[in-house]
Amino acid sequence: MPCIAENIRRISATLPEGVALCAVSKFHPIEALKQAYEAGQRVFGESRVQELLAKISQMPNDVRWHFIGHLQTNKVKQIIGRTAMIESVDSERLLRLINSESERAGVTTNILMQLHVAAEETKFGFSPEELVELFRSRKYQEFRFVKFCGVMGMATNTDNQERIFADFRTISDTLRVIKKITPDLDDFNTISMGMSDDYPLAIDCGSTMVRVGTGIFGSRGY
Ligand SMILES: *Cc1c(COP(=O)(O)O)cnc(C)c1O
Repeated sequence: MPCIAENIRRISATLPEGVALCAVSKFHPIEALKQAYEAGQRVFGESRVQELLAKISQMPNDVRWHFIGHLQTNKVKQIIGRTAMIESVDSERLLRLINSESERAGVTTNILMQLHVAAEETKFGFSPEELVELFRSRKYQEFRFVKFCGVMGMATNTDNQERIFADFRTISDTLRVIKKITPDLDDFNTISMGMSDDYPLAIDCGSTMVRVGTGIFGSRGY
């Protein structure tokens, strides 16, 4: 078992002020999450609905759960009201459903809009152009039961530092463009990008939230 508390302390110490750490605990056992919790970690990222719900029931109430995986529309209802943030809103259809289920449940759901900038075709998300258009057209104002908190994205899975840098810049530039055209969106400030291998570079490019799994909990063994 890696020294989870030590990893959290080491990583946290390198994060500049204003950059939050989301501990990505997917596929790790509850004992690992408890060690992280005891080390002071409160924000945890999970990518599967069933696993998230099981872990919520076993962890203290003050954990702030971030959903970071592809959310199937038939599972939205199960997590509304149970997460601090859904980071992976990757389609308008999903946005619409999160909004309507939030209305039904009488809650406002904090969301990040997921951008697709990486070269891989398997990654979900809006293109920067699509996302800017959603805001420029004012269509976003239809969705009154979500709070638009910012953007989330991943860089291309490559060793090419320039490509990773360019991807991160595209993500943070997109947030800046949207902020400029939507002065009413006071809370649209979060840039969630950077994982174990690339988070220092993400921070250089403006990340305000890094999502670190392996660097804290060790390998997920798949
Ligand atoms: C798994 C995952 C992470 C964490 O990746 P590591 O390389 O283990 O740090 C971050 N973001 C998302 C969306 C993930 O699915």
